[in-house]
Amino acid sequence: MSKKIVITGGAGFIGSHVIRRFVTRYSEYQIYNLDALTYAGNLENIADIESYPNYTFVKGDITDADFINDLFLKEQFDGVIHLAAESHVDRSITDPLAFVKTNVIGTMNLLNAAKAIWTRGRTEQSGAKDNFEGKRFYHVSTDEVYGALGATGLFTETTPYSPNSPYSASKASSDHFVRAYGETYGLPYVISNCSNNYGPNHFPEKLIPLFINNIITKKPLPVYGDGKYTRDWLYVLDHAVAIDLVFHEGKNHDTYNIGGFNEWQNIDLVKLLCQKMDEKLGREPGESEQLITYVKDRPGHDLRYAIDASKINKELGWKPSVTFEEGLSETIDWYLNNEAWLQHVTSGAYQEYYEKQYKD
Ligand code: NAD
Repeated sequence: MSKKIVITGGAGFIGSHVIRRFVTRYSEYQIYNLDALTYAGNLENIADIESYPNYTFVKGDITDADFINDLFLKEQFDGVIHLAAESHVDRSITDPLAFVKTNVIGTMNLLNAAKAIWTRGRTEQSGAKDNFEGKRFYHVSTDEVYGALGATGLFTETTPYSPNSPYSASKASSDHFVRAYGETYGLPYVISNCSNNYGPNHFPEKLIPLFINNIITKKPLPVYGDGKYTRDWLYVLDHAVAIDLVFHEGKNHDTYNIGGFNEWQNIDLVKLLCQKMDEKLGREPGESEQLITYVKDRPGHDLRYAIDASKINKELGWKPSVTFEEGLSETIDWYLNNEAWLQHVTSGAYQEYYEKQYKD
């Protein structure tokens, strides 16, 4: 079936993998990549799909309600896959309002625009739900909305929300609005909450790419607190597969947890990364570990996140396709083979790409 789908944040880390998957897999869909190209958005991430006939890039800010309403009215999208966000916890601590603007108000603008075009022309008698046939609003979210776990237990889809950082509070708020639009207006939606992703195209402010870059350049590896924080890690390409499945087969008005069943204490992860990098760079065993530096803890730092992804496994048959060792190895190789990307991102030069590609 032919469909027009807008994917927001498609120039970012996860969005770039989702866009590539949809554009290359579904030639019958018209895929729109709506992205403001903030510091985290980089069109070099998806340079290989730019010439596909079913792909259109739209530079735009989801916080601009008029722009979003006009775009939705003009294009009459059938589906929204919403990934655009301010995504870095540390930045949310220094500038929480930026997170409210993009993550909460931006999501509201998309919800309002989708509701407007999908219910346009309905009469009071016909009921809003009738006009939602074939439509879907998919909100991509995080496991951080659930707060922190102790030494045991897993987040399930029914775990109460208890966000601790301005980032997770803004994502929790947007999740609630998506759900509320489903309950109040009948908007067809699905939400997924995923654990930490890693893989190619990851902006080097986040732990794994930052540390890969610092190991290459022999800079300190700053580990928060005692390094005992525990996170579940998922290879980004496996997340993209899960997003494809949830978009197409997820139950309407439902939520799916996505995770790698792959918990690591930060310090153990950093040591594994050092060991693998030493091997790949031909350095002495233990050389990169000497770069580890313990730094003052992040305020409100959640001790442990761990996700129960058994519902998506049972209902949609999804599970991670690679082990952490395999995914990490692929990731390191990607960064070592894409030095120019890393240099452009760390120097800010990637921001010139849009000017060159899209301006006459
Ligand atoms: P990212 O920071 O790499 O990319 C975000 C993208 O959104 C960028 O391309 C940026 O230009 C764009 N963007 C930001 N503000 C915008 C705005 N106002 N208007 C339009 N575009 C805007 O983020 P990511 O890590 O790829 O995360 C994508 C989504 O997945 C986010 O919603 C995030 O909360 C969620 N998520 C991320 C992870 C993770 O580990 N990275 C895990 C679970 C969920």
